[in-house]
Amino acid sequence: MKILIAGLKQGLTHLSEEINPDFLESRWHEFYPEPIKCEVDVDRFLRELRVRITLSTTGHYSCDRCLEKYSTGHSAEYEQIYKIGEGPDAVDDEVIQLPADTVEIDLRELIQEILILHHPLKMLCKEDCAGICAGCGVDLNKEACTCRDDDDDPRWARLRKLIK
Ligand SMILES: [Zn+2]
Ligand SMILES: [Zn+2]
Repeated sequence: MKILIAGLKQGLTHLSEEINPDFLESRWHEFYPEPIKCEVDVDRFLRELRVRITLSTTGHYSCDRCLEKYSTGHSAEYEQIYKIGEGPDAVDDEVIQLPADTVEIDLRELIQEILILHHPLKMLCKEDCAGICAGCGVDLNKEACTCRDDDDDPRWARLRKLIK
């Protein structure tokens, strides 16, 4: 996904592309192996480009509580400003400075950053996932567990089951 600077008109240009996620670092590629839909609005004013990117893809996660794999829609939005050929006096954290002879902007690195920025901190297959019992190890979404009914240490309950 690239923005070609040469011939880019002033004002708004809309770009739409579905890109292959192969450029992602492998640890991120595992979460986002499906094509990434990119909607990009470029607003050009002379040498300044205001780029708004909207990404959507499918995230493949494993639940923090029950460890089951699940997938869900993942979308993210971000705005980045580029300035082409400005002096170092124009330094600004929110602006990416590009050399005057820049012919294209490759957005892939930024796309990876946006995905990482919006990567879920908590992964839950569902809001009320019951998780796995620490005592007997059953997935509490699928099975009822009995070891909590005992006053004893769950490890003893498991032993008792074996003895029966
Ligand atoms: Zn779960
Ligand atoms: Zn249990």
